[in-house]
Amino acid sequence: TMQEEDFEREVKVVVVGNGCVGKTSMIRQFCKGQYSNEYKKTIGVDFLEKHQFVKALEEEVKLMLWDTAGQEQFHSMTRAYYRGAKAAVLAFSTTDRASFDAVPVWKHKVEEECGSIPMVLVQNKVDLLEDAAVSRQEAEALASELGLRFYRICVKQNLYVTDVFEYLAEMYLQRD
Ligand code: GDP
Ligand code: MG
Repeated sequence: TMQEEDFEREVKVVVVGNGCVGKTSMIRQFCKGQYSNEYKKTIGVDFLEKHQFVKALEEEVKLMLWDTAGQEQFHSMTRAYYRGAKAAVLAFSTTDRASFDAVPVWKHKVEEECGSIPMVLVQNKVDLLEDAAVSRQEAEALASELGLRFYRICVKQNLYVTDVFEYLAEMYLQRD
C-alpha cells in the first residue's frame, strides 16, 4: 500500500561517537543549515528530519537523524536510541585521539543493538588538521580494517556533510 511505501522511505539514522566530536553540529548543519561554535549538548529533540535525494538511484528518502543527549560520555544511550535504526554514522574528531580509539567500540555497540546495518566512518573537524591527533593513514587503515567507507568532513564549513548522508541513504535503498 501507499502507506507502507511511505514508511519504508523513512530511515532512522543514529550518529554515534564520543562527546564533542561534532555529532549535534553535524545533524543541525545537515538538517537546518545552521552552525554554532557554542558547545550544545543536544539539539533539544530526539531527532531532526531531512529529505535526501539519492542521485544514483533517482529516489528520495526521509532521513531521521537521532541525536544523543550527552549519554555518549557514559556509553549509556538507551535501547530506544538505537531501536529501529537502519544506518549509522561513526564519528570521531581530528583533534581528539580518544574519540578515534573509541570507534571500534561504537561500531560494536551499534552491531549489538541494530545488527549489521550500513555504517560509515566520519572524521570531523578537518579545518583543524594542524592540530591533528590522528594521521590520514591511520584513519584510512582503520576504515579498511572495519570495512567502512571513510569520509573526512568539516561540519563548520559544511564540507562533505551531505555526501555522508547521501551515501547512507543509497546503501539503505540498495539493501536486499
Ligand atoms: P557532540 O558532543 O558530538 O554532539 O559535539 P557538538 O556538535 O556539540 O560539537 C562540539 C564542539 O565542536 C562545538 O563547540 C562545535 O562548535 C565544534 N565543532 C563541530 N564541528 C566542528 C568543525 O567542523 N570544526 C571545528 N573547528 N569545530 C567543530
Ligand atoms: Mg551532542
